Amino acid sequence: MKRIKEYCGIIGIAGHPQAAEMAYLGLYALQHRGQEGAGIVSCENGRVYRHVGRGLVNDVFASPGTLKSLKGSMAIGHNRYSTTGTDKKENVQPLLVNTKSGFVGLGHNGNLVNSKKLRYKLQQNGAIFQTTTDSELILHLIAISQKHDIVDQIKDALTKISGAFSLVIQIEGRIIAARDPNGFRPLALGKLDQGYVVASETCAMDLIGAEYMRDVHPGELVIIDKNGFKSQYFTNAQKSTHCIFEFIYFSRPDSRIFGEYVDKTRRKLGRKLAEEHPADADIVISVPDSSNTAALGYANASGIPFEIGLIRNHYIGRTFIQPQQSIRNFNVKVKFNTVGGVLKNKRVVIVEDSIVRGTTLKMLTQQLRNAGAKEVHIRVSSPPIKFPCYYGMDFPTMEELIATGKSVKEIEKFLGVDSLGYLSIEGLVSSVPSEGRGYCTACFDGKYPVEVEKDFEKEQYE
Ligand code: SF4
Repeated sequence: MKRIKEYCGIIGIAGHPQAAEMAYLGLYALQHRGQEGAGIVSCENGRVYRHVGRGLVNDVFASPGTLKSLKGSMAIGHNRYSTTGTDKKENVQPLLVNTKSGFVGLGHNGNLVNSKKLRYKLQQNGAIFQTTTDSELILHLIAISQKHDIVDQIKDALTKISGAFSLVIQIEGRIIAARDPNGFRPLALGKLDQGYVVASETCAMDLIGAEYMRDVHPGELVIIDKNGFKSQYFTNAQKSTHCIFEFIYFSRPDSRIFGEYVDKTRRKLGRKLAEEHPADADIVISVPDSSNTAALGYANASGIPFEIGLIRNHYIGRTFIQPQQSIRNFNVKVKFNTVGGVLKNKRVVIVEDSIVRGTTLKMLTQQLRNAGAKEVHIRVSSPPIKFPCYYGMDFPTMEELIATGKSVKEIEKFLGVDSLGYLSIEGLVSSVPSEGRGYCTACFDGKYPVEVEKDFEKEQYE
């Protein structure tokens, strides 16, 4: 029921005797970035091994022996959430193809914004697609490149795509990590015993005991083999516009992304929010878990005590059986319950990281009032979301976004709260680390840093 779906998580392990096991553990830590499917590709002595499946990491690798069958000291892994293509097994990554330069495995996080035209052109030239993902286009572009060396073929392919892409690519004896020139999605490089690891977030490195070294830079290719790693660039046109939403909601608070700890930044957002929108209240609570850290920041800056007023049930599967007898607001109640003793007769500030449709928050507000809250004040640690994301976040359509076409006062009324305050865009930007970095804020202000292709008539996606 969380209002925004995460997209994908990627990991690559090179130079480790249990590469597939390490990739598996890393995928566990990155599970929040995608729950529809998972997979690992490994290689040893010119042979490649692949296992992918739909569902959570735990389910995909549940059979005894599956991990052991993924041999070799190199492996790449992927957790999928379908932002392009549908939720079917063919689309689960890493993808694996046999090209003139040998086997190429690929895991992709992000969305391409010129994929429709590229797909059409490739199809006109005879390409046959196995999946409906934009990631497969990258493999086709690598396969048809006229460059002689596989690394040059990859570089050539990356100059033809635009949008958001953090990639792990496995070729014979090497793993290549690459990031789009804007660095939309995070990708970190670390040391793991005698080898190396690249991962979407550093929480994956913490789990396997790897040490964070640095981020893969926008426009960079990090090539890792048994002798170490080399850095090359596939473009000179780097312009960092990191996705600011990674700090607001997507990444785990214990991760370090874009060179900074998410927890630290999220607390700053909460403190700034308290500065911009103070409230006369008795307690601050969060919508667990993603808003916990921002709520702590708000409480800290406002001097209002932080309390646990909502308990989240962590054991809800992706689907649950609706009771036959209708229970009001069942979908929300099954996920969150109120703590009556904390809320009764209290003026409550509830901190939320973002509002998309507003329906969940409206139901939660009613639950807080039913539990005896005297007043409910909502504070949001991001600005109103008014525009779609083309770079890999799955927001609903503009018509479904509550802030498109409604004023803050109208949203306040819709939610049935005593007051509502959103963090300003200026407040947001001033709270994230800025030195040498820029950010995408397009879902708030409509200023898209990379041009998005117009609808292409001959497009043949599902
Ligand atoms: S539009 Fe929003 S969610 Fe999408 S990349 Fe930009 S900041 Fe992130």
